[in-house]
Amino acid sequence: MEMSEYNQQQIEAFMMVRQYLQGLSRSRVGQTKRRIRNYLRFRADVAGFQALHFSEVCTHKCFTNQTSACCGREGIATFFADVVINVLLSSEGEIDAVLQALFTDRGGFKCVYLTEAGCVWRLKPIVCEMFLCRHAKETVLNANHVLRTRWENLRTRERRYTWPSRPVLFDELEELFIRLGYDSPLMYLHHSPGLLRVKERYRKFP
Ligand code: SF4
Ligand code: SF4
Repeated sequence: MEMSEYNQQQIEAFMMVRQYLQGLSRSRVGQTKRRIRNYLRFRADVAGFQALHFSEVCTHKCFTNQTSACCGREGIATFFADVVINVLLSSEGEIDAVLQALFTDRGGFKCVYLTEAGCVWRLKPIVCEMFLCRHAKETVLNANHVLRTRWENLRTRERRYTWPSRPVLFDELEELFIRLGYDSPLMYLHHSPGLLRVKERYRKFP
């Protein structure tokens, strides 16, 4: 079976990031890890919120029936920064497992990263973390305005890392690689026309 463009791009990004990080000194790796610390705190808060308030509805609606709308094939955009952060947090074996999933993909309806043991990413992409289907939102958030406000606050925090209407971590991590001559279609903050317009507006009206 011929490899899809999606898988090809993911493989290239993972290999590029792995190669770059392997060439860094221990102190530079430590520095980069410190740079993502606040982001990881944010991710832990989202994961905690999801576990506390959504596990019941997700278990009931999807996991017991195996009908989840989450984790569909090529249904998510992975940002280049997602890859960088995941590689930073992963062991060599975990990165090998990600590459193995991509190289041995046999097609089907499910996300290439979904294995028997769950998602093969150490820290799944931000789009996956923030995804809630309509049913989940209606069941949990529409019925409780306190939870809805807390969820909106988490969404606002997400934008501080990903939405380039100001300098953000996801842009900075792409920039780091671009300065060294790397490029990837997953660098949406440097290639997506919509996001480039957002950056341009910020540059003109900071
Ligand atoms: S968010 Fe929606 S689709 Fe995803 S597991 Fe929960 S109920 Fe299912
Ligand atoms: S990357 Fe992981 S969490 Fe995201 S859709 Fe694929 S299996 Fe699901």
